[in-house]
Amino acid sequence: MVSLIDSHAHLDYPQLSEDLPGVLERAKQAGVEAVISIGVKLSTADKPRQIAETYDNVFFSVGIHPHEAANEPLACDTGSILALAEHSKCVAIGEAGLDYFYDHAPRALQADSFRAQIAVARTLGLPIIVHARDADDDIADIIEEEFRKGPFKGVLHCFSSGRRLAERALDIGFYISFSGILTFKSAKELQEIATIIPDDRLLVETDSPYLAPVPHRGKSNEPAYTLHTLEKLAELRGEDLIQMAIRTKENTLSLFSKMRGNS
Ligand SMILES: [Zn+2]
Repeated sequence: MVSLIDSHAHLDYPQLSEDLPGVLERAKQAGVEAVISIGVKLSTADKPRQIAETYDNVFFSVGIHPHEAANEPLACDTGSILALAEHSKCVAIGEAGLDYFYDHAPRALQADSFRAQIAVARTLGLPIIVHARDADDDIADIIEEEFRKGPFKGVLHCFSSGRRLAERALDIGFYISFSGILTFKSAKELQEIATIIPDDRLLVETDSPYLAPVPHRGKSNEPAYTLHTLEKLAELRGEDLIQMAIRTKENTLSLFSKMRGNS
């Protein structure tokens, strides 16, 4: 039996929260021993937190998604972010980043909120979870610039960017997390990138309820489906599934190191 961690799910979204006991039971049956429930707004930060307070094997993050940078009045307020993140089960900051595909918030504001969240991650010694869409160069520039001010850990979540961004992020110690997109037939370039990421920097996630992997593509996604992405990753890299599970779980615990003392 494999044992794995879903490093990125939105358990407070209605598709999952309406049947949370069922979702978590199916995850357990599928070998998922822990889930990180990701924050996207400060104004709803209590939701992932309450789930983590209810279930031993759920952890959470505090962050502002770039889509929300203009809607959240405290999107750049490091003090508020920090105060919400000081919790024994808050294991990361984010998801934060830049999304130039949807451009729901002005780009300068997305960047300011991203930098504020990196500052909090650095202060608390927590990893930053990065959302990047159609913004490869600016994401790379910001993480490199911020890294020069003082080191911090991080992950490019639901990786679907270009190879150059992966390389620049790896150079400053970042991890790369793959979602169900990896299983899509059309994802040839991504599948190629998945073969060049070093063993000790790979993570898997669902980003549920979105992006269900094949063979569930098009349906609502849930943490139980993490295994499909892991299987694809092992297949692409020509590695044993069990070894891949052990490796990615170990990587997840190294990055989100606060989980160790807690589970
Ligand atoms: Zn997400």
